[in-house]
Amino acid sequence: MPAPYPKSVPMRSPRSPRETRSPGLEPLAVLPVFVTLTGRRAVLAGANGGAAWKVKLLAAAGAHVDVYAPEPTEEMRAAPGEAVAGRVVLHERDWNPADLEGVAFAIAAHEDEAACAAFVAAARAAGAIVNAVDRPHLCDVSFGAIVNRSPLVVGISTEGAAPVFGQTVRARIEAMLPAGFRAWVAAARDWRAEVGARYHAFAERRAFWERFADRAFAEPERAPGRADLDALMAESEAGPRGGAVTLVGAGPGDAELLTLKALRALRGADVILYDDLVAPEILDYARREARTMLVGKTGHGPSCRQDDINALMVSLAKSGKRVVRLKSGDPLVFGRAGEEIDACRAAGIPVTVVPGVTAAQGAAAALGLSLTHRDAARRLQYVTGHDRRGALPDDLNWAALADPTVTTVVYMPKRTLRALLARAVEQGLPPGTPALVVFNATRADQAVIRGSARDLADRVEAAGGEGPAIVMVGDALGRDAQGAAASGRQAAASGAH
Ligand code: SAH
Repeated sequence: MPAPYPKSVPMRSPRSPRETRSPGLEPLAVLPVFVTLTGRRAVLAGANGGAAWKVKLLAAAGAHVDVYAPEPTEEMRAAPGEAVAGRVVLHERDWNPADLEGVAFAIAAHEDEAACAAFVAAARAAGAIVNAVDRPHLCDVSFGAIVNRSPLVVGISTEGAAPVFGQTVRARIEAMLPAGFRAWVAAARDWRAEVGARYHAFAERRAFWERFADRAFAEPERAPGRADLDALMAESEAGPRGGAVTLVGAGPGDAELLTLKALRALRGADVILYDDLVAPEILDYARREARTMLVGKTGHGPSCRQDDINALMVSLAKSGKRVVRLKSGDPLVFGRAGEEIDACRAAGIPVTVVPGVTAAQGAAAALGLSLTHRDAARRLQYVTGHDRRGALPDDLNWAALADPTVTTVVYMPKRTLRALLARAVEQGLPPGTPALVVFNATRADQAVIRGSARDLADRVEAAGGEGPAIVMVGDALGRDAQGAAASGRQAAASGAH
C-alpha cells in the first residue's frame, strides 16, 4: 500500500507515477501441495467412520490401496468394487510392519488413539506421508474439499476451522468453473510437448498459452480439437500481440462489483496504472506477474500530472504492453478519461473502455434507494463540486440544483459542500430538502450522514468523516426508512415547513 503523504508536502505539488509492489506473501495456515499417487502404494489401517471415503479418494488418485481392517464396515467391503481408478485390496486382519514396505501414503483410521499413534509412527518411519482420520495432531497432511475438473483440481482448506464454510466455498467454485474446462486442460496437457518444441522463447510460449486461456474462457463448453491448436499457433505466429490500452472501471470499492469484462482485462494486463481511489483488494485480481503503478489522483492530495499519465500509458502500449488504466467507479464519470482516450487515439493505440459501477450507483444500492422514484424525482444529475482550481464551479446550472424534484449527486463535494448547498437554497431549493453524504460507499467502512440542504454541512462538520464521499440532494432521498425518520426529527426540531 502506498504510504500516506507526509503533511509537509505542499497540497498540489505533482508527483510522479511510481511502481508499486503487491505486499507479497502473507502467513499461510497450511501449504497447499498436490500429491501424485498414480501407481504408488497407499495403506489404510482401521475402519472408523471416515475410512471408506478416504480409500475411495486414494484410489481415485490412482493409488494401489491396501486396507488392513479386521472388522471392516459394509461400506469398506464395497470399496474394492467401487474404485474408479487405481485399485483397492481389503485384508481382513491387523496390519504388521512388513505391510508398510514401499508405501507412499498412509492413513490411520482406528477408533483407538493409541492404535492410531502406533500406526502413524511406523508409517512415518517407513517414509510415508501420513494422515489420521479426525486426529489432526497426528497428521502430516490433511484432506480439503475438492473441485474436480481433472486434470484441473482445486483443493480448499480451512485448516479444520470451518469445514461447512469450506463446503460452501467449494460449491461457489463448482459453479464458477465450467465442466468443459476438463477438456481444455486435458488438451493443454496433450499439446504441451508440441507447443514447447515449437516455441523456444519463454515469452512466445507464454503468449501462446494466454491465447489458449482466452479461447477456453470464451468457449468453455466446446471441447477443443486439432483445429484450435492450429488456429492458436497461426495467431501466435502472425506477430506479437500489439499493445493496447483498456480503461477499466474498478467500481466504488467492493470488489464483487467488478464486471466480468473488468476481471478479464485485469487478468490479461501486463501493466496496470491505477488511482489512489481504487480499492487495494481490486488489484488482487490482477495476474501476479503484472506490473502495478500508482499514478495518483486523490481528490485533494498531490496528483501525477495528467500529461505524464498519458505519456506513460502511450509509451507502454507502444512497447507492446497490454495496459489497463484502472479508475475508480466508472471511467467515463469525472475521470478525465476523455483526455486519456484522445492521447491513445492520437498515438494510434487501440483503446477500449470497460464500464464500472459509479460511486452514485454504489451509494444508492447501499442505501436501497431509488434515485428516480416517480413520486419524488423527475431527473437525475451528477455534478462536480470542484472546478480546475478546486473551487466551487461557477458555471453549475443553479436553477437545476435548486429543483427538489431533481436528484442531484455531487462528486468531489468535500471542500465546497457548505457553499454549494447555501447557494442552491439561495436560488430557491427548499431548505428542508433531504440531503445526505455517503462516505466510502460499498466499502467496509461505509458511513452515511443524513440531514437537509439547510443543515447537512453542519452535521458533516460535527461528525467528521474520512475517505471518498458523495453528497446526494433531492426529495427522492427522503424516501428511505432512516431518511424519513431523520427528516421527521428535523421537522420536529426546526418546525415543519
Ligand atoms: N469515476 C469515479 C469518480 C471519480 S471522481 C466514479 O464513477 O465514481 C472522485 C470522486 O468520486 C470522489 O471525490 C468522491 O466524490 C467519489 N467517490 C469515488 N468513490 C467513492 C466511494 N466509494 N464512496 C463515495 N464517493 C466516492
